[in-house]
Amino acid sequence: MPPLALCAAPVFTAHTWHVAGEGEETHTGNRVPTSGWKSGACGERLLSTMKVVRTVPALRRALAGSPRPLALVPTMGALHEGHAALMRRARKATGPGGSVAVSIFVNPAQFGPGEDLARYPRSIRADLECCRKAGVDLVFVPRPGAMYAGDHSVWIDETRLSAGLCGAGRPGHFRGVCTVVAKLFLLFQPDSAVFGAKDYQQLAVIRRMVRDLNFSVRIVAVPTVREPDGLALSSRNRYLSPGDRAEAPALRRALLRSAELLRREGPAAAARACRAARSLLGSRWTVEYVEVVDAVTLDRPRTRSRGVVVAAAARLGGTRLIDNVIVR
Ligand code: AMP
Repeated sequence: MPPLALCAAPVFTAHTWHVAGEGEETHTGNRVPTSGWKSGACGERLLSTMKVVRTVPALRRALAGSPRPLALVPTMGALHEGHAALMRRARKATGPGGSVAVSIFVNPAQFGPGEDLARYPRSIRADLECCRKAGVDLVFVPRPGAMYAGDHSVWIDETRLSAGLCGAGRPGHFRGVCTVVAKLFLLFQPDSAVFGAKDYQQLAVIRRMVRDLNFSVRIVAVPTVREPDGLALSSRNRYLSPGDRAEAPALRRALLRSAELLRREGPAAAARACRAARSLLGSRWTVEYVEVVDAVTLDRPRTRSRGVVVAAAARLGGTRLIDNVIVR
């Protein structure tokens, strides 16, 4: 039984908001057909209600009435087609009878001093519409105070895979990521959680956290969703000036060049592959790193590595872009 599903007249265009209790809202509208389309007594035209909760007690109440299995998609909002792909994958994981939950939280703990926390894009109305169209059942939109007590003092710190790549330039970033994701896993107790391969290091760190802390959640990875010109979709792409936007796909092209070399010559060519990528990024770019790492350990690749990843972070104008290519 889908949660709070209602049968209604055949055509729906409008949607409405109801305040359903403290910290809760319901968002009603027509579900856009996806692989997770829930057929009901009304056939395909099913009016569904997406619950939006803002507090932990409201979340607990909503979860108590949510059919299992449950799949969680953690996000920071400013949602785009990459996030929507994660939601569709979550529905595939739960099947039509389960529940898909999305969290939208710009997590202050993963931003360093001088980073873009204050200006990180926030577009909650459009985000809820994106979730509703993707057939999401439950959205958690906490305020920072609902997630962190003023004297919060417990952290989850992955100490190995977090050290290099983005972790080297963003000290404390993965500690913030692990802490918030662990809190979300404890709150939601999901059967599966869906992450994008675009943030490859984050994915590897979370897999490691799940293994080492015995979380019973299946981590599902979704390949990077890209613009037609190859630029990885990112909430931060909206910071790019038109000139920088035209230049941005060069990062992907540079990584593909490295990947080609690695495929031909193997991990022994790692250093040359990194240099090749750097040489393709012109003077507009400030390269933070280009590295080839083992796909699981994120260590220096070995000849016996089952797969390697070439990953990069670089700034264009004031915008930091990351991307990677997996080479098997
Ligand atoms: P964010 O809102 O940026 O924290 O991202 C939330 C989730 O969406 C993370 O698991 C990201 O890896 C994933 N994600 C972001 N952009 C993309 C993309 N272009 N393709 C696939 N997944 C993505």
